[in-house]
Amino acid sequence: MVLAELGSSLANALTKINRASKIDEKTLQILISDIEQALLSADVSTKLVERLKANIREKLRLSELPAGVDVKRVIEKVEITNLLDSKRKAYIPKRGKTNVIMFVGLQGSGKTTTCTKLGYYYRVRGWKVGLVCCDTFRAGAFDQLEQNATKARINFYGDRNEVDPVKIALEGVKRFKEKKFEIIIVDTSGRHKQEESLFEEMEMISHAVVCLVYPLHQKKKKPNDTILVVDSTNGQQLEAQAEAFRKRVDVASVIITKLDGHAKGGGALSAVAVTQAPIIFIGVGEHINELQKFDTQRFVNRILGRGDIATIVEELKEHKLDDQKELMEKIQKGIFTLRMMRDQFQNILKIGSFSSIMQMIPGLNNLPKESEDASQQRLQNFLVLMDSMTAEELDGDIALIETSPSRQRRICRGAGVHVNFIFELIMVYKPFAGFAKNMKNMPFAKNGEMPKN
Ligand code: GDP
Repeated sequence: MVLAELGSSLANALTKINRASKIDEKTLQILISDIEQALLSADVSTKLVERLKANIREKLRLSELPAGVDVKRVIEKVEITNLLDSKRKAYIPKRGKTNVIMFVGLQGSGKTTTCTKLGYYYRVRGWKVGLVCCDTFRAGAFDQLEQNATKARINFYGDRNEVDPVKIALEGVKRFKEKKFEIIIVDTSGRHKQEESLFEEMEMISHAVVCLVYPLHQKKKKPNDTILVVDSTNGQQLEAQAEAFRKRVDVASVIITKLDGHAKGGGALSAVAVTQAPIIFIGVGEHINELQKFDTQRFVNRILGRGDIATIVEELKEHKLDDQKELMEKIQKGIFTLRMMRDQFQNILKIGSFSSIMQMIPGLNNLPKESEDASQQRLQNFLVLMDSMTAEELDGDIALIETSPSRQRRICRGAGVHVNFIFELIMVYKPFAGFAKNMKNMPFAKNGEMPKN
C-alpha cells in the first residue's frame, strides 16, 4: 500500500534504536537523519520534515530525559502520529437534522467518486442521503454522478441545462431539506489547477447553501462540513494546492484518495499538515465500498507493519454477519482460535473487497496491493488449509502445528498446496491471537467500538 515503504523505513530506523546499547547524541543524530531520509523520499515536504525534526529535538533533549523514557515511543508519537493528527475535531453529522457536506478539490482528485462513496457509507447505515451535482464545468460530471448515485441507490439532484452551479446548489439543497434528508452532499466543480474562477464559485456555493439552510442564523458562513479531497498520487504539489484551498474556504476535513495505488503518499500527509484539518476517510479503490474511516493510531499501526485488526473486526461487525456477537465475546476473553479465523475469512469472502482487507492483515500488509483475484486466491488457500486440519488443530494451541513438521506436511498435502503456505498462515494467525490476548480485560466502548490496538 501507499506509505508502506515509508512505514517500513521508519520502522527500520526505530528498530535501530532498540538495538543500540545506549542512546547518546550520536545515536540520536543517526536516527533523526534516517527518519528525515525516509520522509523526504516518501514526498513529505521539506518544510514539514524540518518542523518534525525540530519537534523531535525539542522532545528529546538527552540531558533532560528522565530515566526509563521510551525514546522509540516518543519518536513514534512526535513523528508519525503528529504527521496525521490535527488540532481540529472532525464534524460528526447529527441524526434527524440537515447536514450539508460540501466537497472541494481539483479535477481528477477523485471528488465525484468520493461523494458517492460517502453517500453510500451513510445510506447503508440508515441515513437519508441526497447528492447534488454542481459541477457544471466538467463535461460528463452530471452523468457520472447520476450513474453512481443510481448504483448506490442514493437520491440525486442535478440540472443538465443549468450552467449556474449556485442555482443548482440552491435548488438541490432546498429540495432535499424540504424532504428532511439528513445528509446532503454537494459536489462542486474541479479545475485542472487552482484558479480564481474555481475559488469564487466555491465561495458562492458555500454562501448560498448556508443562507438556505440557516436563513435566520446570519453568523453561520459555511456548510456543516467542507471536505477537501486530495489525491495521494500528486506528490509534492499537494501542499501548495491544499494551502490555496485553505485560504479561500474553511477546509474542515480531508479525504485522501487512491491510497491503494503506488504513490508515495507523503505529499498527502503534507497537505493535511497545512490545512490542520483531520483526515476523516481514505479512498482505497475505485469501488463504491472502498472508503475507509480513518483513525490515526490504527493507520500508524498499519504503516509500521503491525496490521489493523481492530478495523477488520469492525468491518465484519458493520456487515452484520451472523456470529459477530459471539466473536466479540470470545475476543474479549482473550480467545482467538484457528477455527475463529477460518470463520472470519469465510465472512470476508462474503463481503468482497478482499484486497483492501488483506492490506490490514499483519504480515500481509507490507506486500504490494494485489488484484482482487489474487487476494481471493490467497484467502481461499488459507481456507482450504484450515479445512484440512483436525478439530484438535483448529481449536488447540498453534504450537501443535508449529512444532510438528509431520502435521504441517499432512495439512498441506490434504489442501493440495505448497508447504510454505502453512508458514504464511501461522504468520497471519499469530498477530490475531496476540491481539485477542491484549483485548482481554480491556473495556470495549459502550457503543461496541473496538479499542485501538
Ligand atoms: P474528480 O474529477 O475529482 O471528480 O475525480 P473522479 O471522481 O472522476 O475520479 C478520477 C479517477 O480516480 C476515476 O477514474 C476514479 O475511479 C479514480 N478514483 C477515485 N478514488 C479512487 C481511489 O480511492 N482509488 C483508486 N484506485 N482510484 C480512485
